[in-house]
Parts: sequence; structure tokens; C-alpha cells
Amino acid sequence: MTQRIAVLGATGSIGDSTLAILAAHTQDYNVYALSGYQRLDKLFALCQQFEPMRVCVPAAAVDDFAQRLDEAGLSIDVVSGDSGLIDIATDTQVDTVVAAIVGAAGLPSTLAAARAGKRILLANKEALVMAGQVMIAAVKSHHATLLPIDSEHNAIFQCLPPAIQQNNTHIHESNHGVRRLWLTASGGPFLQQSFEQMQQASVAQAVKHPNWSMGQKISVDSATMMNKGLELIEACHLFDLPESKINVVIHPQSIIHSMVEYSDGSFLAQLGSPDMKTPIAHALSYPERIDSGSQPLDLYALSGLEFIKPDLHKFACLRLARQAMQAGTQATIILNAANEIAVAAFLASRLRLTDIANINEQALTEIQVPLLDENADIDDILAIDRLARRHTEALVAEMA
Ligand code: NDP
Ligand code: MG
Repeated sequence: MTQRIAVLGATGSIGDSTLAILAAHTQDYNVYALSGYQRLDKLFALCQQFEPMRVCVPAAAVDDFAQRLDEAGLSIDVVSGDSGLIDIATDTQVDTVVAAIVGAAGLPSTLAAARAGKRILLANKEALVMAGQVMIAAVKSHHATLLPIDSEHNAIFQCLPPAIQQNNTHIHESNHGVRRLWLTASGGPFLQQSFEQMQQASVAQAVKHPNWSMGQKISVDSATMMNKGLELIEACHLFDLPESKINVVIHPQSIIHSMVEYSDGSFLAQLGSPDMKTPIAHALSYPERIDSGSQPLDLYALSGLEFIKPDLHKFACLRLARQAMQAGTQATIILNAANEIAVAAFLASRLRLTDIANINEQALTEIQVPLLDENADIDDILAIDRLARRHTEALVAEMA
């Protein structure tokens, strides 16, 4: 049967990769809904190409966009804002929601999709960093399916035994033999450069990733290795493990996308070209397999695979992520919010790249909020997020 797909964040980099796969498999997948935010010309072109039933734009753009569609003879229901995203994520016609909005903005619709029992292809790692417990509880109680498309988590998922894949929030060494997980990291554009060189980095240098082509925010996160820190937290929630059971190793070639270490000494790894189409196609078709359109790995052309221990002075954000995970959800919310503000300030040339870690650390130490217990709901989470953003804005203003 045709799967009806909503691509939230359709105009971004994950959106591009997803829609390329969907365009190549129109007999199996129907593009039912799309969303965009600033790149509305691109969203309009996607509407012409895919003719979805529904589209979501920011509230201020809704009338213009509807008129444009009308003039082009396209009859598409236009909704707007957070409520529009939630409408689409919970639409009874939708089977699968691709959660590909960047940052905290993706949380409400991703959570709504979980509560509506959808199949969720999760790119929006920030949703788990902010609300891991709430998200996982919603997935379980509403029988949703959560399939990671972040390449590392997708790799780990593929290397886990089928029993865990079916209910991937329970890993126990006793019955599955999983000793630890290994998240691989490319090390980003500054791996071979000194801290001092990193301090002087321009925006253009920071967003130029050696192996992957991605949106601006995640590219900066890769340069500071905050991305790996967020992924560490994401993995703790997805696979129900403490951070001490998850190691990070720099693997500059980005060929091994992550590994599972078993108690008998086996390491299972997933390999592939660094192309997001592979994990997206895996999750779209799971448990089957489809052609993703990515370049097959040329093993004869590979000269060597390296593995390096991360330098936690240069990549302090990675240390902060472990600390936050140990401290609890309130800390991971603060870290995520502070980082979004600091990255935006760096992209606006108001901060140096290395200031991002300083700002994040200051936010974590200065912002005092009560511990969140497992009954915390989304409003508690969003209240901490707002507080952390305000506080971090002030820190940036002081430093800039
Ligand atoms: P992009 O910046 O390329 O795309 C982000 C998408 O979110 C765009 O469609 C954008 O709309 C939309 N968007 C941005 N802000 C808002 C908002 N406030 N409300 C609604 N929509 C919004 O990011 P990526 O595709 O690179 O990343 C998306 C997510 O996937 C992130 O969480 C990232 O961490 C994760 N991810 C990305 C990978 C990659 O290879 N790119 C790999 C693994 C995970 P518009 O463009 O129209 O403004
Ligand atoms: Mg990743």
C-alpha cells in the first residue's frame, strides 16, 4: 500500500534528500503534506512538483501563499504556524511524518505525531534533547514508531538485534549482550587545526563540512562537536542507555556511521557513503530495503579508516553534553537552548566560534531551575527553554 508522507521541514537539507527518494518511488510513497518557513519560493516549486494535499507556511505568509497556489491552479489546503504543523502531523490521512525541522521549533509537531501514533522518521534531534522522556513515553503509550534518520542512530539501529529494533528503547546487557555504543564523528572542518585557528574561524569556514552537506545550524554544531554532544543525548533516549555506555570516536572519513559493541567482543558497524539518502531510505522502507540513489561505497578506492579520541579542550561542547545528561533533562534543555542562541549569534558574526562553548557552559552554570522529574510535561519543558533563551541572549549581548 502507498505510504502517505508528511515532510515537515521540506525546504531544508533533509527535506531535499527525502524528496529525492520519494520522487524516485512514486508507486510506494505519496507526498501528502509539506512545510517550509523562509524559503517559500522553494516550497512553492515543491508544491508544483509534488502537488501535496496540504502545505504549512508561517502565519504571516498564508494569504500570499494561498493566492499564489490558486493562481497556479493548484488546489492545496494551506495551514500555518505551529498549529498548522500539528494539524498535519496528526492528520488521519498521514502514515509517516518526516520530522526535519531544525531546532526546538520542531518539537511540538514531532511530539504531536508521536501522540497520534504515527510512524516518525526523526531527523530533529533537538526534540529528543529537550523532551526525550516525554517523547519516548508518548511513542510507547500511543504505539507510534520512532525510526532515527540521524545517520549515527540509524547505523546503531541497523546493528542492533531485531528484538531491540522492534522495541528499541530497551537494551539490556543480560539478554542482548550490548556492551556499549560507539558514535562516530567526522571531527568537522577544524579537526586538524589548533584551538587558536578555530578561534579565528569565519562563518564560511565553519559551515564548510568536509564530508556532509547540511543546513547551517547543524554544520556549525559539527564544527564545535556540539552536534555529537546532542547526538549522545539523542542516543541515550532512543536506546535507553546512560551516557557512560556511549563512547564517541572521531573517524574523519565518515564511512563507518556508528557501531554497537557486544559482550563477546564483536563490533557491528554500518558503512556507507556519507549521504543522508541512505539512512532516510532505510527508515522509509524499514523493514524492507529500497534503492536510495546514493553512490555505492567504493571499497577499492578507500585508502584507510582512522579512529581518534576527541580532544575535550578543543571540543568542550562534547564534555558539556555529557555533564548535562548526567545532571538531568532540565540541563539538556538549557544546553540545547543556549546553543541555538549562541550558534545564531555566531552566524550573525556576533560571536567567535569558540565562544559558543563558553556561552553554553555559562548558561549551564548560571541558570538555576528545579530538577524535572519524569512527570514533567511539555509546558514545563518549554518554560525552561524560554528562560534559557532569554538568559543566553543577555550573555551574548555582554560578550559581543
Ligand atoms: P535546514 O536548515 O537545511 O532545514 C531546516 C528546515 O526547517 C527547513 O525546511 C526550514 O524552513 C525549517 N524551519 C526552520 N526554522 C523553522 C521554524 N521556526 N518553524 C518551522 N520550520 C522551520 O536543516 P537540516 O535539514 O540540515 O536539518 C534538519 C534537522 O535534521 C535538524 O534537527 C538537524 O540536526 C537534523 N539532521 C540533519 C542532517 C543533515 O545532513 N542535514 C543529518 C542529521 C540530522 P526554511 O528553509 O523554509 O526556512
Ligand atoms: Mg548525525
